[in-house]
Amino acid sequence: MPTISIPTALRQYVGGQAAINVQGDKIGAALTSLTAQFPDLKKHLFDANGKLRNFVNIYVNDEDIRYQQSEDTPIKESDEISIIPSIAGGAASEAEVLARAASPELNKEEIARYSRHLIMPEVGMEGQRKLKAASILLIGAGGLGSPLGLYLAAAGVGRLGIVDFDVVDHSNLQRQIIHGTKDVGRPKLQSAKDRLSDVNPHVQIDGYELALRSDNALEIIKDYDVVIDGTDNFQTRYLANDASVLLGKPNVYGSIFRFDGQASVFYPKGGGPCYRCLYPEPPPPGLVPSCAEGGVLGILPGIIGVIQATEAVKLIIGQGEPLIGRLLLFDALKMKFKELKLRRNPECPLCGDQPTIKELIDYDQFCGITPPVAQPPVAETSDWEITPVELKQRLDHGDQVTIIDVREPNEWQISNLENYGSRLIPLGQFADHVNELNREEEIVLHCKMGGRSAKAYEILKKAGFTKIKNLKGGILAWADQVDRSMPKY
Ligand SMILES: [Zn+2]
Repeated sequence: MPTISIPTALRQYVGGQAAINVQGDKIGAALTSLTAQFPDLKKHLFDANGKLRNFVNIYVNDEDIRYQQSEDTPIKESDEISIIPSIAGGAASEAEVLARAASPELNKEEIARYSRHLIMPEVGMEGQRKLKAASILLIGAGGLGSPLGLYLAAAGVGRLGIVDFDVVDHSNLQRQIIHGTKDVGRPKLQSAKDRLSDVNPHVQIDGYELALRSDNALEIIKDYDVVIDGTDNFQTRYLANDASVLLGKPNVYGSIFRFDGQASVFYPKGGGPCYRCLYPEPPPPGLVPSCAEGGVLGILPGIIGVIQATEAVKLIIGQGEPLIGRLLLFDALKMKFKELKLRRNPECPLCGDQPTIKELIDYDQFCGITPPVAQPPVAETSDWEITPVELKQRLDHGDQVTIIDVREPNEWQISNLENYGSRLIPLGQFADHVNELNREEEIVLHCKMGGRSAKAYEILKKAGFTKIKNLKGGILAWADQVDRSMPKY
């Protein structure tokens, strides 16, 4: 029987399994067999018309079925079938595009510093001077940005730009190794600059304490040779991709989730595809959990970030085979790398034969994100929500309220409202337990921050429940507003 590998983000719909045996001699039949065994998975793979979703790619061995016979692609017993969903990341001659002759001299101290590079024929004095002449823009000074910044500064890249407007938080320190405990509360940009200047004072570091947006991205990116995408959200990922393609810059991509990582180099000008060729559309908001919701192994961004840094250095010195046209997948649990072929999609709206995207668009809208201005002010709640303070008052008053926590069991272990009779029903299993809930009772749903419980709210509403509320801001808001002794994560 052929097996289909299930990516981490979708395993919650198949009872946590990594691979599923299926029936059928074509991909279509195999997927039907898969979703017949796990009906919850169906809506994540197919749209309402039964069409495979745009942000889900199916591979047989290392080939995308879109470039085979789509769902009619034949499969054999021994074939490796993979579902590759989008996750919150050529030839040497192509890399030469970047390599250039004019390069600054190295002084005595720099020669001593880079001696292990200088004695390698692939780098040598020429390569080291190319590195010194080069500029790289890091989008994000977080998990991926940490190893990227540290290694690229150490390697002697002449100018590093960093875009980040976040502040260092305790929950960052498990993976964002550029920041230290003493930096908690400081802007990440300041903390990163201090650390990188210490690693290598010869590097010019230019910080941009802002969110990369359609109205500033081209202006910032145009001055750099290479863009590195270390973002954690789809809006910035599509924005970075589009701006890089429009400006003809290589975009070194990396993404991480739990134990899984992806890396590639998107560079249509260098003969490869772009991120939109791989994923024409983002998943709807909330469908793919972020690292804040789903977690990430602290070491994983180290591995993927170092792969990105390696690719950036190779592009600059013009050595080796870049990851252009190849998607590298890493599974830390199995400690396995896998490589898939990526092709430029001739119908890609950005880098295809007849592009329709010729300038940057509204990425919040593209990704289905409601702009913040359209939301009510923080202090207000709509009638479907309840604030932590209100809920506490109702509970203290002795009101009968059923609290349902839709997070995962390991999140429950960190903090919970068990003292108030809270019950755990993870969102993935929520629909199966609706019948156990009493629609006469008042129900308050909560998760970590309010996103997953809003989905549970919709499920109950559709089932005809009327006495339901969503806890505004989730258990983190409870920890801030009601019980400050409660740990936050
Ligand atoms: Zn493209």
